Amino acid sequence: MSDKDDAETMRGRLRSERVNSLFSEDELIEDYYDQPAANDSSCWNDYGLSTLQSSGTVSSRSSSMHSGSTEGLDAPAQLLPIIKAGWLDKNPPQGSYIYQKRWVKLDADYLRYFDSEKDTYSKRFIPVTSIARVASIGDQKFEVITNNRTFAFRAESDADRNEWMRTLQQMVDERKFKGLNRISLFQPPTGALDSVDKCGLLELRGFKNKLYVVVAGDKVFLYKNAEDYRQGIGITYIEMNVGNVKDVDRRGFDLTTPYRIFSFSADSDQEKDEWVEAMQQSIAEALSNSEVAEKIWSVEANRLCADCGSPKPDWASVNLCVVICKRCAGEHRGLGPSITKVRSLKMDRKVWTEELIELFCQVGNCVANQFWAANVPPSEAIHVASGSQERRRFLIAKYKEGKYRRYHPLFGNQEELNKALCATVTTSDLAETQSLVFCGAEVSCFSGDPDFPNPIALAEQAGQKLQMEFLLHNKSSEIPRVEAGNSEEKQYSVILPSVTHNGFLFKTPSMAKLVHERKSREEFSRRWCTLNDSIFSYYENDRNAVPNGEIKMEEIVCLVNNPPDTHGYESTFEIYIESERLYLFGLENPEAIRKWVKSIAKSFIHPRADELLSHDFERIGRLQYKGGLNLARAKEGWFALTQSVLYAFFEDSDKEEAVHLKKLQELSVQGDSLVLVERRRTLYIQGERKLDFLGWVAAIQKAAGSSGDTLSEQQLTESDIPVIVDRCIDYITQCGLTSEGIYRKSGQNSKTTSLLEMLRKDARRVRLKEGEHQVDDVSNTLKRFFRDLGDGLFTKEFCQDWLKAAAIDNEEEKIGQYRQLLSSLPVVNRATVKALINHLYRVQYFSEMNQMNTHNLAIVFGPTLFQTDGKDYKAGRVVEDLISRYVVIFSVDEQEMRKQQDEITAIIKMRIAGSSSGTQQAGDFICTVYLEEKKTEAEQHVKIPATMTAEELTFEILERRKIDTKEKEYWSCFEVNEREEAERPLHYSEKVLPILHGLGTDSYLVVKKQLSMENMLIYLASRVSDSKHGMMKFREERNLLGLGLSTGFHDRYFILNNSCLRLYKEVRSLKQRMPAVENSHRPEKEWPVKNLKVYLGIKKKLRPPSCWGFTVFYENEKHEKQQWYLCCDTQMELREWFASFLYVQNGGNVWPSESSKVRASRTQQDSRLGNISLIPLRGNENEMRNSVAAFAADPLTLLRNV
Ligand SMILES: [Zn+2]
Repeated sequence: MSDKDDAETMRGRLRSERVNSLFSEDELIEDYYDQPAANDSSCWNDYGLSTLQSSGTVSSRSSSMHSGSTEGLDAPAQLLPIIKAGWLDKNPPQGSYIYQKRWVKLDADYLRYFDSEKDTYSKRFIPVTSIARVASIGDQKFEVITNNRTFAFRAESDADRNEWMRTLQQMVDERKFKGLNRISLFQPPTGALDSVDKCGLLELRGFKNKLYVVVAGDKVFLYKNAEDYRQGIGITYIEMNVGNVKDVDRRGFDLTTPYRIFSFSADSDQEKDEWVEAMQQSIAEALSNSEVAEKIWSVEANRLCADCGSPKPDWASVNLCVVICKRCAGEHRGLGPSITKVRSLKMDRKVWTEELIELFCQVGNCVANQFWAANVPPSEAIHVASGSQERRRFLIAKYKEGKYRRYHPLFGNQEELNKALCATVTTSDLAETQSLVFCGAEVSCFSGDPDFPNPIALAEQAGQKLQMEFLLHNKSSEIPRVEAGNSEEKQYSVILPSVTHNGFLFKTPSMAKLVHERKSREEFSRRWCTLNDSIFSYYENDRNAVPNGEIKMEEIVCLVNNPPDTHGYESTFEIYIESERLYLFGLENPEAIRKWVKSIAKSFIHPRADELLSHDFERIGRLQYKGGLNLARAKEGWFALTQSVLYAFFEDSDKEEAVHLKKLQELSVQGDSLVLVERRRTLYIQGERKLDFLGWVAAIQKAAGSSGDTLSEQQLTESDIPVIVDRCIDYITQCGLTSEGIYRKSGQNSKTTSLLEMLRKDARRVRLKEGEHQVDDVSNTLKRFFRDLGDGLFTKEFCQDWLKAAAIDNEEEKIGQYRQLLSSLPVVNRATVKALINHLYRVQYFSEMNQMNTHNLAIVFGPTLFQTDGKDYKAGRVVEDLISRYVVIFSVDEQEMRKQQDEITAIIKMRIAGSSSGTQQAGDFICTVYLEEKKTEAEQHVKIPATMTAEELTFEILERRKIDTKEKEYWSCFEVNEREEAERPLHYSEKVLPILHGLGTDSYLVVKKQLSMENMLIYLASRVSDSKHGMMKFREERNLLGLGLSTGFHDRYFILNNSCLRLYKEVRSLKQRMPAVENSHRPEKEWPVKNLKVYLGIKKKLRPPSCWGFTVFYENEKHEKQQWYLCCDTQMELREWFASFLYVQNGGNVWPSESSKVRASRTQQDSRLGNISLIPLRGNENEMRNSVAAFAADPLTLLRNV
């Protein structure tokens, strides 16, 4: 009891020591002024509240809290800066002429006035948001007008008045402009404020009328009544970080602050308990708030939202290490916890360990944005006032797709990223860790050390607590992936079309592997199935409420519509889900299954790709793929397989694209990719998951093979000719045109049978080679193919019409009829007829040698093509007509004709030359090689046997031109890439044929002198070490998205040893450590030399810093290609590096010794080849001499001048 008495005494004393009152008479009068109904005047004056400023125990604290107030600023707890403060006269009470002096403060949220500048608690607060306008009323006076009240003030001068008005109006306008978007820490608890913890009427000691008290967040607001509360105009608010609540008696409690004691009394003890609890909570929140937030805000960059720039952000993403505002936090939450883990600085106190707070001080918004927001286009940035959609779009791009991030130089190189992460976490470089982790380094990768198996263990061992903290929060973080268009759907469901469907289906248990065997009916069970709200559910029966199982539409990765009768039920379909399970459903009713398949497909295919649904697909779903120039990153595409066409929606395209599988140039499985090579592109389909990928591979392989015995079911070339036909014709053209009795003589039956079988199985893989295959076997294979062709070449439908046409007497009419019939053939048949007749036209052209004139060919091919027994002479007639009138019937262009003729003539001459010397080789290939320069008069057509080396080709060309090579002249064969403006001298022992096969249309071969060879040989002979070190300028090729790792050339340190080229970024540390550097320092990049192709020259468009550069192509085992550039300062440097590359790549054997085999056999070659120049060099001798003279300079100089 004595305690209580003491408290009473204390309170009484404090009251008597009051310095000024919270509510003085002007309040009362003011209320009459704008609220004439109020009549509670007496109490305001008599029972003002005391401050504690005179109390010895708290005054020191109080004064320290006020240390800033001399500059007109609030206590530290006050978070918003004061925009304007000063003395103003408040309008006089009604009936009086005496103005009241008031200390007036304006911050971003409130206009408040106080008795004096020392006061903490205002007499009035008017939210800026409730001010409608500010008006001048003369005599240095102005009015602040809200919706229901007007406050009048008088300044000391017109200038001061104008300054107040201008500032106020500006604040009001700004607020209006922002559309009230900003949620402020100091927003009054008006209207539907969501943060109100408790509100209601409370008696405040000394007042007759109860006040309306609101506990909201970390503050307690005092209003005169509920109406004022709704209008937002209050008396004052109490920052609870300085508050303390004390139980006084049954219904009474005190809220103590250093400045004042508020003694409240509730209606009941239960009410009191609730108030006490609410206020204690508020204090707790305010304290945690100030503890965590103030520590984190002590770093400048953390005082503004990392995303939109709003001040005093009180939320955070603990894995991304960014401090964000409430609105951004809401959108962050929408991205999902695998991308951003949202926590409140105020409310999630447990998460804020010392380490995490320290991490936020060291990384925080500054370091995080240097990475995440390195390239934000101003048009995409968001602001304080940005709407929710804008924020969402921006945050997806920023954190989910990583669109603006600064790419780590190792991006795309998983192994190196992981290695770098393991190294970095043992240091204090958190920025580097951040960059590595969000560019793909795996937080849980294996470090190679079983004692400290992962980066977290390494960081722990190294005592790097902050690294550990960062890694722990990002253990399960998703790495940004650009998924154009797709990203929205995953989190925000671009709302997959809501399809509803239900009915009975028969279902087998789900499986973890592909279904190869036939499932009998007994293995299926009847289930009631529903598709609703993007969930497919199956129930024991249609009366059950709880499903046996569910498949979410977004989990589905592939849907397969099986061919009829694959299993015990006539129609079946398969669903593959992300977690590698396969569900098989069936029904006897194909129509019902068709509807199910359509409904399910429609519910899981991204709306962007819904065009795929229009196909009668066998298989549909999403897959990872790589394509185009950017092979570093897999993208997600939507695919549908329909017969032999794979329809695709690629990530960066809105259009459906079709891949004609039968026309692929190559189809192979390499590692975990399926490689589809088309003429213009290569597509890598990646096995992200095993189960559906294997299904796709099998289906695509099947669709790409020949599916039947008709023409259009075969594998086709670009020009719609079956690959079988193309291969055979090509072979006969190369090797059999002059063969006697070609197409009449029969080959070996068994060989023909096996060859045809091989070609039917996969014609693309069959390479016909002279020596390995006999001309007559191949010609018979072609005939057999046509004879057995389903539907025949001329089709069953039109076959008789062709034969009838042959009987027409009038030549012109007959040709017209043939042309007409030709145009009515299916595309593949028409193209094949033309290719075959063209070929036969070539064959008869050499009838003097092969004895097969048009008539003879017709006798052979008539019955073959018309699949008759040979009795109908008209079949032969048709073929004879087609060959003899080939040019007219097929409207052949004359120039095309002549060009073909030249080629064939060249082939024949070559064969004659070859056969006379008896050196006929397998797989020969005719190509064009230039001498010294690419121009028509320097063209040479050369037959390239598979065994021919670059040295042999060089000598052959020199022989033809009768060019004598002198000592110290280093003639070589160069591969020139016009597009890259670069060239590469082939090593003398390199085989030419594979290079020819790999040449693009922008490339060609040229034989010329290698002018720097002598200097290179001298350098190699004189150097001390086999490896080369030094600086070069390095540049990577930008990728398709323009997100190139680096643009421009940068200094890098390189080391080339006998196996690898290594790139180092840090030159200084490296140079000091030399020469032990190779073992002691980790390179930034490293390439095996055997996978590099080094070309001299860099295309000018890239603005190389000097003309002494290389273009380097790198291709790994997975056939993924990279391209980059190196530039030296001097020609000497360039020669040394190039010589070193040659040396390393060729095991030290750069130039042939004088006793080389080719050189030795030169005289022999003379007699063997004679002086055949297939296409004679044009131009007179003087012209030739001049053009050769132009090459007297170093070829590199020429390149520079191109
Ligand atoms: Zn924000």
